[in-house]
Amino acid sequence: MAAAILPISGWYKPGTDDFTPSDRGDIPPIRLNSNENAYGPSEASKKAIMDSLTEANRYPRAFISQLREAIAAREGLTTQHILITAGSTELLGLTGLVYGLQKGELLACHPTFDFLLQYAERLGCTWSRTPVQENFQCDLNALSKATNKNTKLIFVCNPNNPTGIEIPYDDLKTFCETHAPNYPLYIDEAYIELSPDGRKSSMSGLVDRYPNLIIGRTFSKVFGLAGMRIGYAVAHPDTISKLANYHIGREQTLSVPAAAAAMAALEDHDFEAMCRTKIIEGRNMVSKAFNEWGVKHLPSAANFIFFNNEKFAMDPVMAMEQEKILIRSYKSVPGWSRVSIGKVEEMQMFLEAAKKYVVT
Ligand code: PMP
Repeated sequence: MAAAILPISGWYKPGTDDFTPSDRGDIPPIRLNSNENAYGPSEASKKAIMDSLTEANRYPRAFISQLREAIAAREGLTTQHILITAGSTELLGLTGLVYGLQKGELLACHPTFDFLLQYAERLGCTWSRTPVQENFQCDLNALSKATNKNTKLIFVCNPNNPTGIEIPYDDLKTFCETHAPNYPLYIDEAYIELSPDGRKSSMSGLVDRYPNLIIGRTFSKVFGLAGMRIGYAVAHPDTISKLANYHIGREQTLSVPAAAAAMAALEDHDFEAMCRTKIIEGRNMVSKAFNEWGVKHLPSAANFIFFNNEKFAMDPVMAMEQEKILIRSYKSVPGWSRVSIGKVEEMQMFLEAAKKYVVT
């Protein structure tokens, strides 16, 4: 018998950042709360997963080596520049561990994706938060000014989550060139493929010159493989070795099907291009409607839009919950909500539902 389809994986509980595993009836929620790619996984990745199952009795070493070669080729670097992890979350934790063990201070703008920062805080570091500018752009000058002898790592998420805002390429490059000689610098590029210039905006070209620089990437977004848990670091070989020394799974945290899925994804340029096109189409649709309704929102270079709640008759997260659509908000950024960009049809449904709560 075919395995039962799992219930939809949780319902956002207003007022908390947690998910509860309750199944809420027949109409499945539209999940626009975790910046996943609703178009994935590709047919090629699904086939690769199925075909790889006969190798599930083997350790994944050979698959991971091949994947590392494929990633290195895509990045135009060597395999020594790449560390593969179970999602980029594992890399964030690993980096938080390696640099957090030294105690001291971590610098990052606020709001940002804070997993690494919170993890290192638990190890005894402090996170010095630099507020974003009025237009929500990361304040690189303020970050520069905040550096000091206790700085153990600077974290920059580009495009930033939850704002979606991208830092201009030249500004971030100058920032890296200025600070990477002195401080470890983690650039989280989980959404880089969805930014206007795509991977051309990446800082990965700097890693050979600046061993302190670590670039974090993931297969969870444009490749639609969030459930498979695949991420990687791009860094100077010395830094990769340093991270690998602390990697609890000794570079074997990926399963055989996950590595196979990732390899297939890297070869499927059409699928990647389709996802990018459709996600941008959905993003433009939402932005256009918000402009028409006067809903303040930020220009996004990623697969989500951060918007202001003012024009809504009630908290948009709760309003959308009534409509069986999951979006999310952040306790640390009151008055704003984030909607992920799902399929174009899902965004149409989101807009139809959201419109009912907009006060004109
Ligand atoms: N970085 C950023 C900026 C993210 O938004 C996320 C997840 N949404 C991650 C890293 C972690 O993603 P994953 O572990 O799936 O690679």
